[in-house]
Amino acid sequence: MNEAIDRVVEQFRTLLTEQIARTEKIERGAQAKNFAAMDKIVIGVAGGDGIGPIIMRETRRVMDALLADEIASGRVEIRDIDGLTIENRLALHQSVPADTLAAIKSCDVLLKGPTTTPKGGTMESANVTLRRELDLYANVRPVAVPEEGIDWIFYRENTEGEYVLGSRGVEIPGKLAMDFKVTTVPGTKRIARAAFEYAKNNGKKSVAIVTKANIMKKTDGSFSALCHEVAADYPGIEAEDWYIDIMTANLVNPAIRSRFQVFLLPNLYGDIITDEAAQIQGGVGTAGSANIGDEYAMFEAIHGSAPRMIEEGLGEYANPSSLMRALEMLLRHIALTDRAEKLSRALNICCESEKKVVVTGDRSGATCAAFADYVLDTLKKL
Ligand code: NAD
Repeated sequence: MNEAIDRVVEQFRTLLTEQIARTEKIERGAQAKNFAAMDKIVIGVAGGDGIGPIIMRETRRVMDALLADEIASGRVEIRDIDGLTIENRLALHQSVPADTLAAIKSCDVLLKGPTTTPKGGTMESANVTLRRELDLYANVRPVAVPEEGIDWIFYRENTEGEYVLGSRGVEIPGKLAMDFKVTTVPGTKRIARAAFEYAKNNGKKSVAIVTKANIMKKTDGSFSALCHEVAADYPGIEAEDWYIDIMTANLVNPAIRSRFQVFLLPNLYGDIITDEAAQIQGGVGTAGSANIGDEYAMFEAIHGSAPRMIEEGLGEYANPSSLMRALEMLLRHIALTDRAEKLSRALNICCESEKKVVVTGDRSGATCAAFADYVLDTLKKL
């Protein structure tokens, strides 16, 4: 038994050394970009696979209309990124081919269609590669139900917690198994700052810090304390502590849920509660998602490439509103808040209040292109 313990202790030493090195890398990390002060912003566009190029084509029309002035003046450049297709990735045996990654890194932000991950084999998902290579530490997911006054945004830490060593736990066979949860000081401060910056820039008055700090005293205790440290730099915004169990109940309690605005959570709680929240909004087909780092940010629909829709000839009936919601987030991120607000209002009219053109995902509903026409007409009236 002593030998087994020694082996595990040695393994733990390796993990600890690696995590300290990662912490130091985060500390050396890039300064967040100040988009409002930038003379030129490059938006990369990658259609991806399956329904991706179709919903991207229509979202692109909306983007071109919203940014017509900035594109004409040269302040915004839209750059097509080739090579993020499953055919190319398989041919090169690379989840994100090196030249494609370099092209993505030459942009400030990326609007990405869904990418297929082959079942089996050894190829990593393009998203996992991009999150790591671009250090996209904040997973941001908005959820809105306007008729109920729900307007939530979730800031989920995307690179540590239970996930960073999720496949590297230790085991003494027949006796026990242990996984690790990691909360680093710079890793927590950067996600906290992202959430409070969002709150400040978007007129939000409170941030709910959601942990289980009463039980996970070291990791969640540290997460909560560090978030409060960051909150001290944002005096107009209230930082509230909540436990994940009661917050999960709050989200299905109509008497209380609309009072919440911004949620700030460690990785695992964020992963679970954002699915609950998306379901309250109407399902995954309605939601956009952002993966944000200091140097780069990537915006996409939360769904996949829907290969069966393509096989059945239904690609043109795919719903582009998920990617248009992602575009709304991209515009907010690059400090074009007025344009983001305009798109938000148009999508709320088209998807919630008026619904003159409804996409169902099959021939019973409108096409992707007809829905985009409807959004463009609605934008003109705003
Ligand atoms: P999926 O999200 O592609 O499809 C799930 C269901 O939702 C299907 O019935 C599909 O027809 C429907 N659907 C999805 N988007 C729709 C839209 N815009 N309009 C109408 N209906 C829509 O999930 P899946 O089938 O499990 O995954 C397919 C592929 O996508 C896999 O290779 C998976 O790895 C990949 N994927 C990629 C991402 C990403 O790039 N971010 C995310 C999830 C899955």
